[in-house]
Amino acid sequence: MLDNSRLRIAMQKSGRLSDESKKLLAQCGIKINLQEQRLIAFAENMPIDILRVRDDDIPGLVIDGVVDIGIVGENVLEEEVLDRKAEGQNPQFKQLRRLDFGACRLSIAAPRDFDYQGPKCLQDLRVATTYPHLLKRYLAEYNVTFNTCLLNGSVEVAPRAGLADVICDLVSSGATLEANGLKEIEVIYQSKACLIQRSGELSSDKQALVDKLLTRIQGVIQARE
Ligand code: ATP
Ligand code: ZN
Repeated sequence: MLDNSRLRIAMQKSGRLSDESKKLLAQCGIKINLQEQRLIAFAENMPIDILRVRDDDIPGLVIDGVVDIGIVGENVLEEEVLDRKAEGQNPQFKQLRRLDFGACRLSIAAPRDFDYQGPKCLQDLRVATTYPHLLKRYLAEYNVTFNTCLLNGSVEVAPRAGLADVICDLVSSGATLEANGLKEIEVIYQSKACLIQRSGELSSDKQALVDKLLTRIQGVIQARE
């Protein structure tokens, strides 16, 4: 039986958000002994379990109430919310706060020689992306419709491989785009990591712990500013 008395926090196991997530929790005073291969880590000094998963699974784990708290990129969160809404669901969760890491932007990029004159140029093109819903929401504002080439990795090679005309992918420095002969033509979403809580009431002990963590996170982030 799962021990439901401990606060369950989901974070990315390995990737761009894991080091910063780990550091933030450590700076909040949570002593965790993370063993590389383990899915679950137990805090030694607080009633907290850390669940280490793919970042894509985190919004769903929080929305479905499997974990109490999650640290995830707003891009992944928002895409999951839009996906669930498209399926007729009404996903619920509480946005606790934006964090000060994981900054990136979701952008449309095209081959270097593409003559870009605005969103209308994208009408009916095929776009390789992991974020079809965010892209659809953005282009709908311009009444532009497109075809999707859904990829969960290697999105930036799709145009060269003849799979898509353009891409919509995460960018931080732009070096990856450059290396693949692409140029950024439109920023559609600015993202950072954020902290979310499942909807519904937590036990008073758990809520008190969340409140304490939030106060500490506030302090940690302020000290870094
Ligand atoms: P996982 O194996 O957990 O599914 P992933 O490969 O999907 O990992 P990462 O590349 O580790 O994901 O990125 C995780 C998150 O980090 C992104 O969703 C985004 O919020 C953030 N991020 C920050 N900078 C970048 C960047 N340059 N490219 C991609 N993601 C970035
Ligand atoms: Zn992922």
